Amino acid sequence: MKCKRCREKAIVQLRSHNTAFCKPCFVFFFQRSVERAIEREHMFEKHERILVAVSGGKDSLALWDALVDLGYDTEGLYLGLGIGAYSRASEAKARAFADRRGLRLTVVPLDETEDGLGIPTVAAATRRPPCSACGTFKRHHFDRAAFEGGFPVLATGHNLDDEAARLMGNVLHWQLPYLAKQRPVLTPTHPKFVRKVRPLFRTSELESATYAFLRGIEYVVEECPNSHGATQLVYKELLNKLEHQMPGSKLAFVTDFLSRGLPLFQSAPDGGLGECERCGMPAAGELCGYCRLVAEVGRRRTQAVAHS
Ligand code: SF4
Ligand SMILES: [Zn+2]
Ligand SMILES: [Zn+2]
Repeated sequence: MKCKRCREKAIVQLRSHNTAFCKPCFVFFFQRSVERAIEREHMFEKHERILVAVSGGKDSLALWDALVDLGYDTEGLYLGLGIGAYSRASEAKARAFADRRGLRLTVVPLDETEDGLGIPTVAAATRRPPCSACGTFKRHHFDRAAFEGGFPVLATGHNLDDEAARLMGNVLHWQLPYLAKQRPVLTPTHPKFVRKVRPLFRTSELESATYAFLRGIEYVVEECPNSHGATQLVYKELLNKLEHQMPGSKLAFVTDFLSRGLPLFQSAPDGGLGECERCGMPAAGELCGYCRLVAEVGRRRTQAVAHS
């Protein structure tokens, strides 16, 4: 098997693109794909400061690495979710990555700062699935860090597999408001929100894992313990079976939706946003979703003490 670009011996075969590359050409292909996604979707420009949300996993670290190499002005943000050994290991990987490259990384440990609530505590107190609480917490802290840090853009490492699984879930349940928002660039709907972008939306998990490996990026390999049994994984497995039989299906599913499906969902209602009375971030009611959740934890704890 020969590299499609330079005809040397290929080490990576990408069936979805019907191509194969040697190491330097794959690195070039990966970075060029990221750059094309950024340019075509008008995600950001070279003069803008970009906050990259990193989890310590392969996707977000591969994204950060590619952005730095492509000459973008970046800083990292790591959210310590307080999920035991998994959080400790992923924080160590994110810190080591930034240290080795002399990059600036802000670490926000949820269980030590401000409300002092890690995800397991919130999930246990409110009896919610951890991923639901986690989503609300991540959104709030990402939005706030980007706004307070004066960043015009927040970039996350969601890859093609994530996007395809999310699309499948939204289509299966005809989640019209979510379908209207399923796009690689979310423009702010409030002055305190920043542009949110997903430069890896066309890049598969296999490609980001290969890139991370070839670039010597050390990332946390274990999955979050709460991911087991998550619905997203069921969709990913189904899509992987489809991809195996019909290479390129995931990419076509997502990109055809964006070009032909998304325009049909543009009219989904989007209520006006005010500001949260407690934290000042955008909110649909008196409190934002995050502060409502924090208040619920407080209420449940008071009830538990009263009944003990
Ligand atoms: S699997 Fe769930 S709890 Fe774990 S990091 Fe992802 S969203 Fe958060
Ligand atoms: Zn080559
Ligand atoms: Zn709030």
